Amino acid sequence: MRAYQLKRPGPIGTAPLELVDVAEPGPEPGEIRLHVKACGLCHTDLHTVEGELELPRLPVIPGHQVVGVIDRLGEGVRGFQIGERVGVAWLHQTCGSCVDCNRDRENLCEGAIFTGFHRDGGYAEKMVVPAAFAHVLPDRFDDYHVAPLLCAGIIGYRALRLSEYEPGDRLGLFGFGASAHVAIQVAVHRGAKPYVFTRGREHRELAEALGAVWTGGADDDPGVRLDSAVMFAPAGPLVLDMLGHLRRGGTASIASIYMSKIPEWDYGKYLYGERTLRSVTAGTRRDGRELLQIAAEIPIRTEVEVFPFEELNEALLKLERSEIRGAGVLQVG
Ligand SMILES: [Zn+2]
Ligand SMILES: [Zn+2]
Repeated sequence: MRAYQLKRPGPIGTAPLELVDVAEPGPEPGEIRLHVKACGLCHTDLHTVEGELELPRLPVIPGHQVVGVIDRLGEGVRGFQIGERVGVAWLHQTCGSCVDCNRDRENLCEGAIFTGFHRDGGYAEKMVVPAAFAHVLPDRFDDYHVAPLLCAGIIGYRALRLSEYEPGDRLGLFGFGASAHVAIQVAVHRGAKPYVFTRGREHRELAEALGAVWTGGADDDPGVRLDSAVMFAPAGPLVLDMLGHLRRGGTASIASIYMSKIPEWDYGKYLYGERTLRSVTAGTRRDGRELLQIAAEIPIRTEVEVFPFEELNEALLKLERSEIRGAGVLQVG
């Protein structure tokens, strides 16, 4: 099968993902194999291929917003059928028995393994996943429009939840890419008032079209204090801008696996007054189920730019340059 392998990390401009021919994986007991149709692009892919994250293995096939059709069932798999469409997210498998797994925090399981990181992911014609970690996808979305929900959507949804926003709240969203453009629709549906802080004109226009009550830059003054906020950009200095806009008692979450250095900061100015700052680490299967269900109910409209299979490196370069409106998706099969 054709697949994109990362053998050695490097700047995305040097096209570090190599299109190679490798053996098709077979499903182990309890696993299903997918004929991949589409795979969404994610910033984590950039942090992986550029080596900003410590990689557990090489070579590896990245890609963790995978939409595919089951073409083989491993021994003992029940509840799925050949030909059925499913999705695979970042959370690929957990130990299932630790205290975090037993308390609805499986995203924090020390034994968790991740798609396209510990195990090969979806930038390939075939991939395997434990059946218990495959997501049933709502029929109302096609392959390309559902793909960005599987990481961008799930992480944005969890980050929103952890920001403790309530209906009517002034909710700040910092950065406006794939994840934020899904999260804003969930937040508006629930009655929040989104204030979107982003540089690009196109990103601001999209935010306004999706219900932002205000858009501007991170150091612009929206004239109000935020009740809750979510940081989507991996830019440490913006964290201070976000906290500077947050009211006393407000909560802010960071929806990023990687963050550049946060500058030294003044406790009294940014955190005192019972402000809460928390990170978001992956998402649970429950987050995925809830988000997919809400997405179908609203329904969420994902703005996608679809790239041909041969153009993955170029597509990731566009992602790095913030040149994709909404979410990027690779066409696979
Ligand atoms: Zn566990
Ligand atoms: Zn991701």
